[in-house]
Amino acid sequence: MANSAIVGVNWGDEGKGRMVDLLTENYDIVVRFQGGGNAGHTVINDRGKFALHLLPSGIFREGVVNILGNGVALDPENLWKEMTEVMGKGVSITPDNLKISSRASLLMPWHRDLDELEERRLKDKKFGSTKQGIAPFYSDKYQKKTVLAGELFYPEKLRAHLRDLMEWKNLILTSVYGAEPYTEERLDEWLSSYCERIKPFICDTGEYLKRAHDEGKSILFEAQLGSLRDIDYGIHPFTTSSNTLAAYAPIGSGCPQVKITNVIGVVKAYSTCVGEGPFVCEMEGEEAERLRQEGAEYGAKTGRPRRVGPIDLVATRYGAEMQAATEIALTKLDVLSYLDKIPVCSHYELDGEIVDIFPFPAALDDAKPVIEYLDGWKCDISKVRRFEDLPEAAREYVLYVQRAIGCPITYVSVGPERESIIIR
Ligand code: GDP
Repeated sequence: MANSAIVGVNWGDEGKGRMVDLLTENYDIVVRFQGGGNAGHTVINDRGKFALHLLPSGIFREGVVNILGNGVALDPENLWKEMTEVMGKGVSITPDNLKISSRASLLMPWHRDLDELEERRLKDKKFGSTKQGIAPFYSDKYQKKTVLAGELFYPEKLRAHLRDLMEWKNLILTSVYGAEPYTEERLDEWLSSYCERIKPFICDTGEYLKRAHDEGKSILFEAQLGSLRDIDYGIHPFTTSSNTLAAYAPIGSGCPQVKITNVIGVVKAYSTCVGEGPFVCEMEGEEAERLRQEGAEYGAKTGRPRRVGPIDLVATRYGAEMQAATEIALTKLDVLSYLDKIPVCSHYELDGEIVDIFPFPAALDDAKPVIEYLDGWKCDISKVRRFEDLPEAAREYVLYVQRAIGCPITYVSVGPERESIIIR
């Protein structure tokens, strides 16, 4: 079977987790290839409700091998806590169904401290970081100032490496931020409490994937966040610090030779955005509050209320193109059932012109949404399982979005449960 990627087309929180949970049944391997524990997939299945931050969503399926690739920000402390929580609900996690890349860099406790300290320094200019240490982590990775997970198997070298990094980090912590320096004892504690626990899961995932690929196994690549948060193609500087695009998946997984044939871009039936930055289609006031409540739009990681708006077709078309999406999963259509008329942001107005090309990030603040209204359907659609059984207005909405994005919508999700899905 072909290899696929499930990726976000918008600002994240599109419902990728539920799509991966649904589709893992068809794949042998699920790989997380970028990002860290700064976002969360919510997955609801027969085992309960789970907020996954770093673990791949295939962890619930028996027989599926889950991989954390070299592109992820591997936080041993938070990963171990997440594993403990999921295992506590009866899910088995062993080195057979979870493999961590030996080439993944370790997110250190000081990365979280630095994230917090920098947000505090920025005060009202802050980015709205989740303070999981992701930006300091990736900057260190590209400065080559991280340790790799596989170094845990070389304790002598690891100790010397960590000592060097700590000396350097302490200079920044103390002289730039006036914070407490790290000690070797503190790092030892971190090593024994968390790193030792995840050590049995660490291996050469590139080699594993290559072999699996040669044997004809099918691989599903799972991303965090969405196109508009991609470090290179997103709304800079309000992006994340990694590449959220499907094109990066083979690199961030340890297997650059793998080809991805299906890219399932996940689009939410309306827009949400967490944190600061331009959000052209943003709704305010009561209208926004109602949509937020209907969609339960509060961060899986932080509980923060998400900013909301109508679907943004300019941003979504761009996002789908950047993902090179071959098909679209449209999620949370049921949430719009309360509306008489459904607003959609069809274009932007920028410098007196109507545009449909997503603008350069610095121009986004000046862009105004052009809103059109489609008919609502005003009935419960959460039990519908066939496209032709949807009310006509709901079908029209889906087809309108499909035309605007220029990519077939093959899944329409009408509820959070695994089975609440229409496959076209
Ligand atoms: P992800 O990070 O892209 O997986 O997205 P989140 O997990 O942050 O957000 C998706 C949220 O919407 C979760 O709480 C899901 O359970 C829920 N959800 C997903 N699909 C649907 C749907 O079609 N309808 C409704 N009502 N909720 C959904």
